Order: sequence, then structure tokens, then C-alpha cells
Amino acid sequence: PSPTPDAAGSEALGCLRRVFGYDAFRGDQEAIIEHVVAGGDALVLMPTGGGKSLCYQIPALVRPGVGVVVSPLIALMQDQVDALRALGVRAGFLNSTQDADERRMVEAEFLAGELDLLYLAPERLRVESSLRLLDRGKISLFAIDEAHCVAQWGHDFRPDYLALSALHERWPDVPRIALTATATEATHTEIASRLKLQDARHFVASFDRPNIQYRIAPKNDPKKQLLELLRTEHAGDAGVVYCLSRKSVEDTAHFLAQHGIDALPYHAGLDAGTRAANQARFLREDGVVVVATIAFGMGIDKPDVRFVAHLDLPKSVEGYYQETGRAGRDGLPSTAWLAYGLQDVVQQRKMIDGSEGDDAHRRRLAAHLDAMLALCETVECRRVRLLAYFGQASGPCGNCDTCLTPAETWDGTVASQKFLSAVYRLARERRQKFGAGQIIDILLGKKTAKVVQHDHDGLTVFGIGTELSVAQWRGVVRQLLAQGLLAVEGDYGTLVLTEASGEVLGGRREVRLRSEPERPARASAKSG
Ligand code: ADP
Ligand code: ZN
Repeated sequence: PSPTPDAAGSEALGCLRRVFGYDAFRGDQEAIIEHVVAGGDALVLMPTGGGKSLCYQIPALVRPGVGVVVSPLIALMQDQVDALRALGVRAGFLNSTQDADERRMVEAEFLAGELDLLYLAPERLRVESSLRLLDRGKISLFAIDEAHCVAQWGHDFRPDYLALSALHERWPDVPRIALTATATEATHTEIASRLKLQDARHFVASFDRPNIQYRIAPKNDPKKQLLELLRTEHAGDAGVVYCLSRKSVEDTAHFLAQHGIDALPYHAGLDAGTRAANQARFLREDGVVVVATIAFGMGIDKPDVRFVAHLDLPKSVEGYYQETGRAGRDGLPSTAWLAYGLQDVVQQRKMIDGSEGDDAHRRRLAAHLDAMLALCETVECRRVRLLAYFGQASGPCGNCDTCLTPAETWDGTVASQKFLSAVYRLARERRQKFGAGQIIDILLGKKTAKVVQHDHDGLTVFGIGTELSVAQWRGVVRQLLAQGLLAVEGDYGTLVLTEASGEVLGGRREVRLRSEPERPARASAKSG
């Protein structure tokens, strides 16, 4: 007979205190644990650092049998199991990093009922022999960690996860708990349907991180901007700086170190020893700044990270949220700072065009990037937009850059028309491909060698855009891209019109743009 909720509650609390050494549950933990201990299915959405692990570890300890945890983070299994064993929890794992002997030992422990928790890589569950092994033991629950990996719409899809839908058919009486830190409304729905969790109770924690100040700045000289931020607001603080490429990780770490910041690089191209040493210094010492590719951070649990900076645009809002979420886990004020510029947009569109996979995959990547761009270009509260992306409503936070310094907007319709006309004119020269730089030179009436060479000084649009600066024009282009009024094509970052561009050119659509820090002179004031 299953225990009454009260008995389950006190047993769970006892386990929390005795085994894990914590006084009280956080947030939804208690409700989730009681529900699963009583045999119910659960879908848990909780931000990184929210305390998801205990939600399945405690039920696995309280219920008879072995808790089977499916996780894609193979590299972390050894650490997780070691940490549990240090607490006296009987844990083991099965994945491809082990040899046959090691595997056989864990299997024997499982069959003998000598394990509380068994961590499995998802591909194990595609193998019939693994399934038969599970049949021969007693399973207390299935925990599906990083459950968003089952969603094809998500940002981290793993085909192996699709096999997890079979768990329910094979073991209908074993409760399942699926956990994720990243779930938009769409992903959430997809997880529930793919894992056949229709009857599961949903536990959705707030994704708000009130102590994080979100700021997104136009990129001019990113390394200098970053140094300025560190010197003025984060002197001596620990932080993480994310860059897209290994080369920019190296350059940035070197630059910061030259300017007296205790900065260390971290990327997959470094040898394992250097990576481990740099990570250890970051974790153990005060005020170390790690400059890293996104590979850094999975499973890093450092409470006093005071800032997370992005020098390149993240590929999705999920990624941005997860990476910025590594700041301020101790609840103290922290900064999430992102520098982003036109080149980021052009570069990422090119990467999407050139990416492997089918059209549907590319469309997904493009939709993720569009959502990220919309967050960058919004004139609303960043936090409101961010939470809305995760399906959570909120009011202006008063603490992000757009709340503190409301973005001014201006009527960019005429400027947009000028830019789009120039794109249209150049598109007619079918053999030539031109990017934003050439078009801006034309609008500004600059007789550069490239302008003269292509007779672009003879175009009707030559010199019609002198009311804006180069920086302002680049802002116009970024926002046209973000609003879908312009697109990037091919290897050279060629700008092309979209269907919606026609509405602007035809005067049927107004374009509101957010001002660049230096305010643009109104087009109408000059030409009127
Ligand atoms: P997630 O998997 O959601 O990112 P973890 O399960 O790794 O989060 O938990 C994050 C940190 O919070 C860990 O250091 C964990 O030990 C700690 N933690 C979790 N629950 C509690 C609690 N009830 N009281 C104190 N610390 C907790
Ligand atoms: Zn705000």
C-alpha cells in the first residue's frame, strides 16, 4: 500500500535532513516529492539551480526499489554518482565510457537491489538487453532529466530521447518524473505528448530571477566595453564571459589578462588538464573570470558568480536564459550583460543557411534566432519579454536597461524606405552581391573605391541618407532584420527584401525603431 501523503511528507523531510543535510524544502520541491512518492507522474519545469535533483533523488530513496535516472550529460555522471556516494547514497551509472567489467558490476548491484539510484544514458534504453536488465530488477521510478531533449522543436533535441516514450508501455505502474529548465509553451506541450505524460501533474516554477539585471548593449568595441563594465561595476568579482569561437575566447582572455583582470580561457580545444585547472581556480578562488565557449557551465555550481557577459549573440533565448542564469545563484545582485551588433545577425544567418539538416531544422534555428533578436531589439522591459517567452506573465521590473533608461523610439519609416530601395536597386545588378556596408556607403554618398568601381555613385539612392550616421544606419539594418523586413542570403551576407519589405516600400506599413544611444536626427526635419 502506498504511504499516506502525511507519512510520505515526514519521511521525505527526514531524508532531506538526514541524507542531504538541508533544513527545509525549496519552492515546489515538497509537493513534487510527495506526489511522486505516492506514485504519481510529474512534469517539472524549474530554472537551472532551482533544485531539480532532489525532486527525484528523495522519492527514489523513500520508495522501494531503484530510481532509474535518464540523463544525456554522460560527462557529469561520474561526478553526480561520486557526490551521492559521498552522502551515503548507493548510486551507480551505465554509459558508453565504461568497459564491460565495470558495467557488469553495476548491473549486478542493480539486480541485487543494492542501488538506490541508477543513472543511464538515453541510448541504453534503445538496447533490448538493457530493457531486459531493468525487467529483472525492481524500479521505484523513472526520472527523465533534461526532458526538453525529447522535443524536436526545442534547442537541444536528441533522437535517443524519443525511445523514452516506450517506458510507460513497458512499466505502466512505475511513476515517471520529467524535469527540464528550459520549456517554452511549445516545448512543454511537446514533452508531455512525446513522453505520454498526459496524466502527469505539472509543476511550473517561476523563471524569474529578480536579482539578475538584464542589459543588452550595441556592440562597438566589445572587449573595451567589457573591460569598462568589469572596472566600473565588477572589480574583483567572479564572472563568466561567453564567446562564440575558440579564437575569440583566447583573444578576450588575453586582452583581459593584459589589463589586470584575472581571466582564464576555457574551450574544448584546450587539453583536459588546462581545462580542469582553470575550472578549479574559478570554483575555488575569488574573483576569477572565465572566458569560455558555451561548453562551460554545464553542471557548474558556483553561487557567487556576479556577472555573465556575452560578447556574441546567443543562438536562442533558451540558451541566453540558461547561460545568464549561472549568475547570482546566491540571490545577490548580479549582471547579465550582452553586446550585440549587426555582424552577429549576419554571421548567424549565414551559419543557419550553411547548417546541416533539412529545411525544417533550418526554420527552427531561424525561429530561435528571431526570438533572440526580438529580445535584443525590444523597447519593453527585458524581463517581461524574457518571461513571456517562457509563457509567464509579469510587470515591468524597474531593474533592466530598458526600464532604467527607456529606449526612445523614432519613426523610421522614411529611413527604412531609403535603405530598402537601395537593396532593391542593387538586387537588380544580379551578378553582384553586396552587404550592409556597401549600401550604407551609398546612402551616405561616400565615393569609396568599391562604390566608384561599380558605378554606385550614379544610382538615384546615392547620398540620400546623410541625415543618419553609420552607427545609426547599422541600427536601422539590425532592426529591419529583427522585424523580418529584410533578410540575409548566401555566403557573403547579401541583403535581400522579404515579402513584408513591400509593405514598407509601398507606404502601407510604418516602422518604429529604437534609437541608437546617439539620437538620430529626424529624417523629416532635414528633408522637410
Ligand atoms: P538544478 O538541477 O535544478 O539545476 P540542483 O538540483 O543541482 O539544481 O540544485 C542546485 C543547488 O541547490 C545544489 O547545490 C543543491 O544541493 C542545492 N539545493 C537544492 N535543494 C535545496 C534545499 N532544499 N535546500 C538547500 N539547498 C538546496
Ligand atoms: Zn525591466
